[in-house]
Amino acid sequence: MRMSPSGFSLKYGKEVSPVHYLTLLGENTISHNMPLDKVNCETRDTVFEDIICPECGAHGARLVASNHLDANLQRQIYFRFVTEQGDDAHDRHCELADSATYADPSASAVDFSQYRTAAGQFVVAQLAKALSHGFIPHHALTHFRRWHTDLKVNHLVGVELDPAMLYHYFLVYSRRHDDGMYFHPKMLELPNLDIDKFVIDRIAREDTSLYKKIKTHDTLFVRHDDLRSLLSHTTLFDVRVLNDAFYTFSQLKSLVLANTSHVFMAQECKLLDAYLSLLLFVNDWCFKSALFMYIDIVQSPSTDCRDAENRMGFTPFSHYLKVKALLNINDVRHHLLTDNAITVRKQEEKK
Ligand SMILES: [Zn+2]
Repeated sequence: MRMSPSGFSLKYGKEVSPVHYLTLLGENTISHNMPLDKVNCETRDTVFEDIICPECGAHGARLVASNHLDANLQRQIYFRFVTEQGDDAHDRHCELADSATYADPSASAVDFSQYRTAAGQFVVAQLAKALSHGFIPHHALTHFRRWHTDLKVNHLVGVELDPAMLYHYFLVYSRRHDDGMYFHPKMLELPNLDIDKFVIDRIAREDTSLYKKIKTHDTLFVRHDDLRSLLSHTTLFDVRVLNDAFYTFSQLKSLVLANTSHVFMAQECKLLDAYLSLLLFVNDWCFKSALFMYIDIVQSPSTDCRDAENRMGFTPFSHYLKVKALLNINDVRHHLLTDNAITVRKQEEKK
C-alpha cells in the first residue's frame, strides 16, 4: 500500500510530515531504528482524527515506519490512509492512491525528501525558501494536486488502439505538409515510376477527412513499446487541456536549465519539474510572473531545508508528449488501417 510522506493537519491548518507533526504534538521519543515504538495510543488517535490526505481528504491516517533507511540512516515515518477494513482509503482518482482502477501516467509523485545530489539539494532549498518566505503558501501544494485531480476527473478519455495502426498514422502524419502532387494519376505515365512509393503515397492521401484531421496534429513520434505500455491504461486524462501550460512550463524549465551550473539527471529533473510546475500554478501559469518569482526566491536568504522535506510534490507533465501523441492517434483510430490491411491494399494496387 502506498505511503504518504505528508498529510494535512486540520488542527494546524497545514501540510505536515509525520516527524514535524509529532514534534508539534510535543513527542520527543522518536529513535532512529524503531521510530514508532514509543509513540503512545493517544498520539496515534490524534493522528487518526486530525490528519487527512493532502489531496483527496481521505481520513484514516496511521503512522508507519518504512523498512528502508534514508540518507541519514534513519527509518522514515509515513502516513498511510486506510479504511476500518484495512483497504486503501483514498479516492480512486487521488494521485496518492494505490488503487489499480485508475492510474495516470501523465502525473508522477515526487518526494522532496529524496535528494542527495547538489542539484537535488538546490531544488529542495528553493522550495524551502519559497515556503518559509511566503512566496508559495503552504497550502499551495495541496491546492495544486486538488486542482489537477478535478481537471483530470472532468477530462477522462476512453482509449482503445491497435498498435498495428501506428504505421498508417505516421504514413499520413509524415506527409501532412505535402501538396499532394506526388501521387497524381498522371504520374503513372512515367516509365520509371517507383510504384511502391506511389502506392504508399496514394494510401496515405486517399482518406481526405483523415488527412485533414491529422494535418492539425502536433504529434511526437512514439515507439511501439511506449505505445504498448501506455495502452495498459484503458482510460487516460486528456492532457491536451494542459497544452498551453505544458509549453509555458517547458519554456521556464529550459531557461532554468540553461542558467544553472548544477547537473540535472532524471531524478533531479523530476524534482525540478515538480517545483517549477508548482511555481507556475501559484502564478496562474504566467511565464513572466513565475520567472520573476523564481529569481526572487533564488536571491532570498537561505532557510532551514526541513521546511521542504517530507513534502510530496508532483509533476503533471510526466510523459506528456507521449500521452498526447497517443490521444491524437486514438482520436482518429476509426479511420486507421492496420499493417495487414495496408499490405493487402498494396498488393491490390500493384495489380
Ligand atoms: Zn488521497
